[in-house]
Formats: sequence, structure tokens, C-alpha cells
Amino acid sequence: MSQSPVLATVDFDAEGVQHGYLKVPYSGDDSGWGAVMIPLTVVKNDVGPTVIFTGANHGDEYEGPIALWWLSNELKSKDIRGRVIIVPAMNYPAFKAGKRTSSIDGGNMNRAFPGRPDGTITEIIADYFNRVLLPMADYVVDIHSGGKTLDFVPFACAHVLEDKHQQARCIAAMEAFNAPYSLMLLELDSAKMYDTAAEKMGKVFIGTELGGGGSASATTVAIAKRGILNLLKHAGILSGEPERGPSISLVTPDHRSFVTSEHSGLLEMCVDLGSDVKNGEVIALVHDIERTGTQPVEYKATIDGVLAGRHYPSLTQPGDNLAVIAIRVEENQD
Ligand code: ZN
Repeated sequence: MSQSPVLATVDFDAEGVQHGYLKVPYSGDDSGWGAVMIPLTVVKNDVGPTVIFTGANHGDEYEGPIALWWLSNELKSKDIRGRVIIVPAMNYPAFKAGKRTSSIDGGNMNRAFPGRPDGTITEIIADYFNRVLLPMADYVVDIHSGGKTLDFVPFACAHVLEDKHQQARCIAAMEAFNAPYSLMLLELDSAKMYDTAAEKMGKVFIGTELGGGGSASATTVAIAKRGILNLLKHAGILSGEPERGPSISLVTPDHRSFVTSEHSGLLEMCVDLGSDVKNGEVIALVHDIERTGTQPVEYKATIDGVLAGRHYPSLTQPGDNLAVIAIRVEENQD
């Protein structure tokens, strides 16, 4: 496979703090012979593990970018042992446009891996992460939120992996991040995800969903910042122990955790995020907006659990992910 056309303006092996760019060639109506300039920071000192932090894998998710721009100003090389690579906005064209997917090629970064060096711009960025950045990493932390169309209880997540030793290290990292919820997540569509690319290389990977709706709150940003520092302490890059608070353990065991809309209309959530729900309980109604005087369609929980995610806009259509119900691990084990 040909070499990546992406050029980094930083030296990943140099000591100290460097602020620079990944220059991705781009020649469009707005800029001939130009480049998409993805900001990044590299902080390195002494010998130790490497962590890669990414935000805005989806461009309309903001806890990651806010916390990582903050980290790029805060982290001093004298305070660390190892290397921290910070990319606050991975799908930068999507981020600049305030969209989930790229404004240039429509690419969903988390469905573009392993990418191609001669592909679309999203595939070129994915390929650079896959062949250049991920091989440098010991820990990979991808900070997501729900974006404009979803909202979640704030959780860090790990996946069930074939390699149980690797899975245990991912779970330990998820627990160290110490979001209010910790979720063993089933992915419905994992083949082309960044997560899967990192996990295939044997890396310790954790993701998050820290909120949603296309903005960020003081609370969820604080969870992101604390989680990042906790992870750096867990990895031994920063000194000290991770701050530990209560975290509710959840699992999404199978497709029953995901309630999909089959109707278009006005969405009325009947329970809020974080609430306990029972199998068969009505969790949402969809009202017919073409006429009055018709009963709304009822959507029911298909398992006992916690409402961990929901469709965010108040209008819905068939195929929307209406609700995510996760099982409390204590309940799951009895
Ligand atoms: Zn996302």
C-alpha cells in the first residue's frame, strides 16, 4: 500500500511540548493545492507509555474537543513520563461544519477504518491513524458524545474481546477513567470502527459517550477532564492515583438493548436518562403529527435496565435509535 499523503508538522520522537498539525492534502473550490490542517499537540518526556486522545471523531460531539483543547494548554512535559498525543478534532472537516460526518466527502470517521491512503479525505485520515498513529500507542482514548441526534448518561465503555487479558486491561482503563457509568458495550456495526482498528492491534482502547444533543455542559466537560487525568495517572504518565468515585456498571448484552423507531412523528419520552425501566414498561410515545385524535404509538422496554441513551430531537422517523437500555451488572449476575 502506498505511503500516506498526510504530513505531521511535529516530530513524534522529540522531547517537550509541540503544537502543530496533521496536513491532509485537499484541493477544492475553496482552496486549490491546499490542505486540511488538523490541530494536534504532542507532549513527551523521558521513557514511558504513549496515550492517544481523540475528540470529534464525530464532528458534533463537544466534550472531547473542549477537554482536549484544555489539556493541550495544561500538560507540561516536566510533569509526565511517556508521550501524550492529543487530537481534539479527529474528523476536522466535520467538526468545523458542526456536523457528524465530513463536510468534504460525507465520511463517517468511525465507519472509515482501516482507511485508504488513496481514498477520500475521511479514508486518508483514517489510514494515517491506522498505520502511523495507532502503532505508536499503548492506550487509545476516543471521547464521544451523542451528537445532535442522541443523548446519553455519561459513560466510559469497553468491549468484549476475544483476548481476555487485553479485555481486562481495557476494563481497568475504563474503571480508572471513572465516569459516572461504566458500560460493557455491544457494537451493532463494529467492522470499520476506530475502536476495532485499535483493538485488533492489541491496544488498550476505551471510548466514552458523555452527553449529547450537539452541545456540552459544565458537568459533562468536568467528567471528561477528570477522566483524562485519571487515565494518564492509571497509565503511569502522570504521578498519583486516579480519583475514584462511584460508577454504575452497565452492560448492553444484545439487540434488546436498542429500541428502534418504526414510526415518524412527535417523540414523547416517558422516562428520563438514568431512570430504571422494567421489561414491558412504556418508555416512549410517538404521536401522529398529520392529525389530531389518534392514539400515540407506544414503545416498550424489552429488558429490565437503565435508560442509558435516547433519541435527542423531538421529531422521529423510522430507523431512529429511540432508546438504549443497559442492564445493571449486579442484576445481570443474579
Ligand atoms: Zn460519536
